[in-house]
Amino acid sequence: MGNTEQNKKIVICKNCNKPEYWGEMRWLSSHCTCRNCYRANWEHETKKLYTWGDLDGPRPTLAEYEAQQQEGGEGV
Ligand SMILES: [Zn+2]
Repeated sequence: MGNTEQNKKIVICKNCNKPEYWGEMRWLSSHCTCRNCYRANWEHETKKLYTWGDLDGPRPTLAEYEAQQQEGGEGV
C-alpha cells in the first residue's frame, strides 16, 4: 500500500515538458517519458501506427501539477 499515491504523483516529462502521472511514465532507452512521447517514438522507430489503447486515458493538467507542488511545499 502507499504505492497508489506514488503512481498518482505528477511529474514533468523531460522530453516535452508536459505533466504526466508517475505511474504512467514509460521507460524508453533509459529515459523516462510520458505516454505521448513514448507513442511518438514508437511510431518513429517502427514506422507503424501505435494502435493499442493502453496509452490512452486522462492526462494530468499543469494546474494539477502546480497544486501538487504547492501541497508538497518543496519551495520550487
Ligand atoms: Zn513527453
